[in-house]
Amino acid sequence: MSRSEQLFSEAQKVIPGGVNSPVRAFRAVGGTPVFFERAKGAYLYDADGKEYIDYVQSWGPMILGHAHPDVLAAVIERAQSGLSFGAPTGLETDLAERVCALVPGMDMVRFVNSGTEATMSAIRLARGFTGRDKIVKFEGCYHGHSDSLLIKAGSGALTMGVPSSPGVPEALAQHTITLTYNDIEGVKQAFAEIGDQVACIIVEPVAGNMNCVPPVEGFLQCLRQVCDQHGALLIIDEVMTGFRVGLRGAQGHYGVTADITTLGKVIGGGMPVGAFGGRREVMEKIAPLGPVYQAGTLSGNPVAMAAGLTNLALISAPGFYDPIVARTAALTDGLQREADAAGVPFTTNRVGSMFGFFFTESKRVENFAQVMACDIPRFNKFFHLMLEQGVYLAPASYEAGFMSAAHTDEDIARTLEAARSAFAQL
Ligand code: PMP
Repeated sequence: MSRSEQLFSEAQKVIPGGVNSPVRAFRAVGGTPVFFERAKGAYLYDADGKEYIDYVQSWGPMILGHAHPDVLAAVIERAQSGLSFGAPTGLETDLAERVCALVPGMDMVRFVNSGTEATMSAIRLARGFTGRDKIVKFEGCYHGHSDSLLIKAGSGALTMGVPSSPGVPEALAQHTITLTYNDIEGVKQAFAEIGDQVACIIVEPVAGNMNCVPPVEGFLQCLRQVCDQHGALLIIDEVMTGFRVGLRGAQGHYGVTADITTLGKVIGGGMPVGAFGGRREVMEKIAPLGPVYQAGTLSGNPVAMAAGLTNLALISAPGFYDPIVARTAALTDGLQREADAAGVPFTTNRVGSMFGFFFTESKRVENFAQVMACDIPRFNKFFHLMLEQGVYLAPASYEAGFMSAAHTDEDIARTLEAARSAFAQL
């Protein structure tokens, strides 16, 4: 029995499914989840000491790679001065200034502890600001597990076959309208019918929870337009894309600005941090300035802020993103070449340092239905063939992959070699 098998068996006795977040359980791909002991740069080391090239990167945060020495030093130094005060520190303002300077249209920001908290709070703010209840989201987009957003959601909610979970009151679910991602006409039609009842649209600007699906040309612009026409707010959920597809996130990349932006992952460099922010007029509705309540005992935690500040300082270096984007392209182009050579129907998507790949005859994957039509058993087999060869991919075909600054050309070459062998065995 491997150490992972042993640890998994013990975990299942005291933790539901043995994991603290469902996708980790390998339900989609089958087999025993790998239990990890440590990580450094592009690599993970499991409980049996095996090394893996990691393309999950803690689901996105570790854009610098794991255990970056400067981030660790900042965390250790800050921890020595106390872990939490439940009272303000100057570090929060330092990070807020940095984030507002980088994110388009953000005048003010509030820090929270997770992406779920960020999107949940943003929805409440949009409802409070507009005095409307209905929200619009897109099928296959995941925005965390708060009640209003767990309707036809992506990521683990897809894997587990619970597009809307028991425990979400029907009365609340009725206020969530789910449209098709990248369907511009569908959005226009919905807004023509009920636009004046809609508090907000929430969207992943590059969908990363139904694999990786970029917006088609004009999609994000259309969302901005209908929101403006109908007095609704546009929430761009950059929990995954923020500081990931580029220093100014997807909004910088596509030239569309939100009323409220939600952030997570990279902003905390691996510590539990999320944030929501936007136009001053909107953010001033938040307590204690305004009537919309939102709070958190550990929000703005000094150790997490220190990690975030160091992370943002490092990724702000000129040219930081260029090699990561180039390596992402080298990986997806290489995978395509290997699949073609093996005669395996396959296509890839990528934006910045996010990528996805699909076992499909179709050359374009632009929405949830197309993602669902891919050959998922084939993905699962590929996943395990890669895992055996020391390449750790996201353990479900509905997830995006992530490149870090620590990955080298040599890592890409090793990954492609493993892929050649895997494709040949499919
Ligand atoms: N929004 C998006 C776009 C996400 O990808 C995620 C998590 N993958 C969340 C929100 C929720 O974040 P968290 O898991 O930190 O609650």
